[in-house]
Order: sequence, then C-alpha cells, then structure tokens
Amino acid sequence: MATEADAQELVALRALSARIGGNPHLTQAAGGNTSLKAGDTLWIKASGTWLRDALSDDIMVPVAMGPLIEAVERRDPAADKPQAFAIGALNPRGLRPSIETTVHALMPQRVVLHVHCVDTISLAVQADCESEAARRLEGIEWAYVPYRRPGLPLAQGIAERLRPGVDVLILGNHGLVVAAETVAEAERLLHRVRSLLARPARMAAEPDVAALTALAGGSGYRVPADVEAHAVALDADSRRMAEAGSLYPDHVIFLGQGSAVARLGEQVADVVARLRANPAAILFPGVGVLMRGDASSGADAMQRCLADVTARIDTAARLNYLTAAENDELINWDAEQYRQKLNTAG
Ligand SMILES: [Zn+2]
Repeated sequence: MATEADAQELVALRALSARIGGNPHLTQAAGGNTSLKAGDTLWIKASGTWLRDALSDDIMVPVAMGPLIEAVERRDPAADKPQAFAIGALNPRGLRPSIETTVHALMPQRVVLHVHCVDTISLAVQADCESEAARRLEGIEWAYVPYRRPGLPLAQGIAERLRPGVDVLILGNHGLVVAAETVAEAERLLHRVRSLLARPARMAAEPDVAALTALAGGSGYRVPADVEAHAVALDADSRRMAEAGSLYPDHVIFLGQGSAVARLGEQVADVVARLRANPAAILFPGVGVLMRGDASSGADAMQRCLADVTARIDTAARLNYLTAAENDELINWDAEQYRQKLNTAG
C-alpha cells in the first residue's frame, strides 16, 4: 500500500463494494468487481469472490498494473491470465484477480466500479442500446462498447472506444463501468447513471405455489431462493425473451443457453426427457420457476437476475443474443471454469 490516503480509500472501497454486493439490482453472486489504483498497484476483487463479502472477507488482490497494460497493448495472450500479474508478496492467500481486471486497468481513473446493473443490462441487450443510452445519458462522458468476451477481447474492444474524459462505459450484452478519482465520486456517478437508465419492471402475476410444490415433489427440483425469480415464467414477454437465447455472459455460465420452458401439461421428468438434459432451471408458464436441486446459490442469484432484466426490456425492441460461438467460448473458457468451481465451493 503506497500511502495512508490509499489505505483510507481502500477501506472506503471495501465498504462500497459490500453495499453494491448487497443489492441484487447492481450485482449478483460473484459478478461485478471494484478496484483502486495505488501507485503502480491495482487492487481488484478476486475471481469467484462475492462483492457482498468485501467487509467480512479479504477479497482484494494486488496486481502489477504497468506490465498488465503492456501485455494488453501487445495483444499478448498473457493478458487473459491476470493471475500472472498478481503481486505474490502482497497476496498470501494466492487469490486470482478478477477475469475482468483488464477493464479496470485500462480506465485511467483511480477508482473503477463494474456492475451487472439490471437496468443497464436490460438496455444493453437491445439492438437500439446505443441510441437510447445516448438520449438518456446526455451530459455524461460515456462510450458504448459492443459485446466481446470478458478478458483480453473485451479489453481490446474498450481500448478502441475509450476517449479522454470518458468515465462511463455501457458494455453491450454485459453491464456498466463507472470510474472516478475517489470512491465517493464513483458511488455518486454509479447512482446517477443507474437512475438515468432506470425503467420500470412489467408487473407479473403471483406464482402458483401449490402447483409448483406439486411439480417439485420427488423431481429433484426445488423452488428458487428468491420469490422474484418466478416473474420470468409468469410474464409472456419475459418468457419469450429468456427462451430465445442467452442475453449476457453470466446467463450462459450459471444457467446454460437460453431457458428451458415446459410445454403445456409437462412435468419435470417430461422436460428432462425431451431436452435430454437437466437444465439449471425450468420455467413453467403461468406457474413459476423450479431450480435443479443441486443448483448453486450463484445460479439462484442469476435466475432472479434474469427475471429482473427481462421484466425491464422494451417488449417492442429487437434483442441481440449471444451467438452459438460466443456461448461456446464462455462455457469452454478455463478462467470461467475456475470461477465456477470457487462459486460451487462457496
Ligand atoms: Zn462483468
């Protein structure tokens, strides 16, 4: 730690991280990350850890920023493995830096917050995102970055769009980045952007708990952790959007491609037999959602996020879905498999 001022900001950042992590409309499970630049060191959330644990657990890892940025500029594949740039002497637990570390390193500001904000994602999956965001973010220095896989490809996408003075990034099919010189300013900017992008959720009917309980009985499936998760099965537009494909990386990684929707009269076993797979979640139209019995707490958080996101998408909008190749590169990515393993263990 370089100075006393840096140490104080890191304390403030941990408190802000816990607040962000406690808000399911800003971040879910191990998603989202925060960072502070202290001299040549970038303190960044560790891969697979949850922001909500920022005060109770040691989740920040120090990274040598200069060598990492040089690797991005050289398009060196090493930049896709930020653990190679962790400062071992300050990292006794051997935590891996977030797979999104390059996003933070590229922003020149001292404090960077990256969140999977529900309001932002609901706009970032619409084909008209750039023009709609421009209308809403007037007066803000922002840039739109089309979808790329997190890691080196996303870092290159950001480098292409970054201009001096930009302190807000909307990441297509992904989320939001805000940056500022202090933790307090970053938090203010986060809430300002979020309120400018906010849209009301469509109201959904109540889940049919009796019918869900009957469907779950002996099936190996269970009701979700959050009652909010059901809305995606109860609203016809949300269901159509979720079924049609994968909207953002954590959707694919935690829940699989698209969503499994039961046909009229189907039980859990019928859906499993028809798909020849046990999906993480099954949507029963007009009834609610069931989660596979062994689904992680991260999967529960993502199923709720999917309901929160789809309920805010403009029903008339054309949507950008991740392509089959983009799905595959996320599922087969070793950095993601590591994050999943930690998440399951946690
Ligand atoms: Zn992200």
